[in-house]
Amino acid sequence: MPRIVMKFGGTSMAGSERIRHVAGLVKREAERGNEVAVVVSAMAGETDRLIQFCREAASVYDPREYDVVVASGEQVTSGLLAITLQGMGLNAKSYMGWQLPIRASGHAAGLIEGIDAEVLEGVFRQSGIAVIPGFQGVTDRGDLATLGRGGSDTSAVALAAAMKADRCDIYTDVDGVYTTDPRIVPRARKLDRVTYEEMLELASVGAKVLQTRSVGLAMRYNMPLQVLSSFEDLPGTMIVGDDSIEDRNMERNVITGIAHDQNEAMVTLTGLADEPGTLARIFAPLAAANINVDMIVQSAHESGDGRVLTFTVPTASLAHAVAALEQAKEEIGFDEIRTNTDVVKVSAVGVGMRSNAGIAAKMFETLGARGINIIAITTSEIKVSVLIHEDYTELAVRVLHTAFGLDQD
Ligand code: ADP
Ligand code: ASP
Ligand code: MG
Repeated sequence: MPRIVMKFGGTSMAGSERIRHVAGLVKREAERGNEVAVVVSAMAGETDRLIQFCREAASVYDPREYDVVVASGEQVTSGLLAITLQGMGLNAKSYMGWQLPIRASGHAAGLIEGIDAEVLEGVFRQSGIAVIPGFQGVTDRGDLATLGRGGSDTSAVALAAAMKADRCDIYTDVDGVYTTDPRIVPRARKLDRVTYEEMLELASVGAKVLQTRSVGLAMRYNMPLQVLSSFEDLPGTMIVGDDSIEDRNMERNVITGIAHDQNEAMVTLTGLADEPGTLARIFAPLAAANINVDMIVQSAHESGDGRVLTFTVPTASLAHAVAALEQAKEEIGFDEIRTNTDVVKVSAVGVGMRSNAGIAAKMFETLGARGINIIAITTSEIKVSVLIHEDYTELAVRVLHTAFGLDQD
């Protein structure tokens, strides 16, 4: 019997009416002869609401208790879906993260260390449907854990890998992966197929349609992923290995997609010593504090006394980064720290870049022609990212989308 995982995001689970609709989709797959496990998100907006309560309870809160609070959103929707499926005459039951168990490495943004699929085997033997709250795991101490924002995607893929599913379907509020966020560029084009590698890069630079870790997992297990709409019956986007796309050179663009990430904050240190070892003294305390540094730009000081270093960190880590640097001020030796959160990272991604020069040049030219100043740049083999002022987000995404020939006809 074919086995599938169906994952439903927050918008798809927002309210009884939508849950009933989701139950209908699950029923249809079960009646087609599939063994089905369903992974659900909390209702749209619920996780934000729960996080806000934690913030109101205390400015610095215990991650263990944070997990107890925020994991509850998924507990509610999984129970409601199971009840709805039962009402349709199906043998459905919910299983919390600790009941499988889904083992997580720690609190607040835990990594999945393993899933025991034995419970599910029992469910399938009895022709049952398992409904599992996404985002939720259990630590080795038996405490509830959560997997980071958007983590239900990762729950779904990890579960699919553990139960050796034939496919993992991610149902969401758009009907597939587009060349850019269709809510920003209405002329964005739906992609029939994307490679794991491209999707991984797109997700990591801000295409939030899939959590980055879920794509990494799918790639590692070679798990076919499908992104599709839970509202419309349309073909979605398949995310597959490179070798499954034979016609890519004939049909596809050099650039697959444009993404943006508003979650970057800029840190500038002035008056640094122009000598070996300065950078190591700056980045060591950041690494020790587990802060990911992304873009880095170094320049000579305007007046010639010392160097200036600018880099970006996730906005959520900004306060930590500043604290770590202030603490190491004596050792590093700098005049001042400046921060700026009014920036956005815009990226162009495509495996075609490997065999095509001039992508960065075209990107700079396109943005320059619109008067958009580039603050920092980073590149990888299949990606060029630029940091710009956030006021230009939409304009930059739109003009790059057009310049790289991605607009729908
Ligand atoms: P869910 O709650 O179902 O997990 P998300 O809000 O996490 O849904 O992800 C879906 C959203 O991702 C879409 O509504 C869309 O605005 C956004 N998005 C960003 N980039 C893309 C892209 N390249 N293709 C499709 N959707 C995208
Ligand atoms: N509910 C969680 C979040 O909003 C997990 C998810 O939806 O994937 O981040
Ligand atoms: Mg999501």
